[in-house]
Amino acid sequence: MKKPVYLDYAATTPVDPIVAEEMCKYLTPDGVYGNPASRSHAYGWQAEAAVEGARRQVASLIHADPREIVWTSGATESDNLAIKGAVAGRDDPHIVTSVIEHKAVLDTCKWLEQNGVSVTWLKPGSDGRIAPAQVESALHDNTVLVSLMMVNNELGCQTDIAAIGAMLRERGVLFHVDAAQAAGKTEVDVSAMAVDLLSLSAHKVYGPKGIGALYVRRSPDVRIEAQIHGGGHERGMRSGTLPTHQIVGMGKAFELAAGQLEQEQAMLERLRSRFLQGLKNLDGVALNGSEEHRVPGIVNLSFAGVDAESLMLGLRNLAVSSGSACASATVEPSFVLRGIGLGDEQAHRALRFSFGRFSTVEEIDFAATQIVDVVTRLRSVR
Ligand SMILES: *Cc1c(COP(=O)(O)O)cnc(C)c1O
Repeated sequence: MKKPVYLDYAATTPVDPIVAEEMCKYLTPDGVYGNPASRSHAYGWQAEAAVEGARRQVASLIHADPREIVWTSGATESDNLAIKGAVAGRDDPHIVTSVIEHKAVLDTCKWLEQNGVSVTWLKPGSDGRIAPAQVESALHDNTVLVSLMMVNNELGCQTDIAAIGAMLRERGVLFHVDAAQAAGKTEVDVSAMAVDLLSLSAHKVYGPKGIGALYVRRSPDVRIEAQIHGGGHERGMRSGTLPTHQIVGMGKAFELAAGQLEQEQAMLERLRSRFLQGLKNLDGVALNGSEEHRVPGIVNLSFAGVDAESLMLGLRNLAVSSGSACASATVEPSFVLRGIGLGDEQAHRALRFSFGRFSTVEEIDFAATQIVDVVTRLRSVR
């Protein structure tokens, strides 16, 4: 059977072959397999040098100092570490977040709420963005942290992190940003945006799964409490033997992303236009989320009169999803679409198409043709 066209880059990306090749050098007996924490021999020193090289590559993409990068197992862990770590030990803390965050932030905040932390849940506008004024009016004297995503994984829309960061810096409130869908897709500058903590994942940027990082600002110094205890790695913030091959993979992936950010954005912009152009003869197609403030690789569309489940069944030649990978196992409508004010029915009519580095014009044209055919057929048999 021919494999379906992959249009689920927002769920995960394939590893770039250049990245995979680099990773293989850090596994086998002829490679660099030492423990980066081994201080007494060359195996350890070489591994440590590789880890530090990758730290510089990851830091560089977000304009951070390499010493501000803490390796984790992915953005889920980074979100947990940032939020729980910032709240730990605080007296009567209050945090602010939104109802359309990734589950890694939502469920962490819900857990804290059940354990006595007060949480304000902001609702975005229909464009999927949180306004700086909304955040400002949610602040209390005891607000210790605001956690917001930069790019939403279901909609692709982008919140004005820099404006919110500037306001929070002035108020002395910590700012955590989940940038898993932003890094490598749009400019991320932790200084310009006045962010204190920022979550990253490798597998959304053509790196391997199971590795990520948390940026932790050094100046002004941000203190977070470790959530995993052990050997005191990563300046005491995250213990565990560093997975050199994964880290090298993330470093390489971020280096590649930095080198081709603009070209890739332009390429994806062209694919996006072509995709929407291909659907223009179809009536009743609505774009969910901001048209203007967004990344080009994620397009979330609702099709009038057609439910997403049937559409997905009809689109067997396309690998798409109705929302986030973690939510798609359920038939519940997406909480993100509900969060931007869509009714149940509208939310049930939405599909997310996401493309990336290895997508081709042929694939995009094929996808558009398939969608037009299937939607037309489903509507005619109603
Ligand atoms: C994928 C994703 C995560 C989770 O990242 P993992 O590395 O898979 O744990 C968190 N936040 C956002 C916005 C994501 O898209």
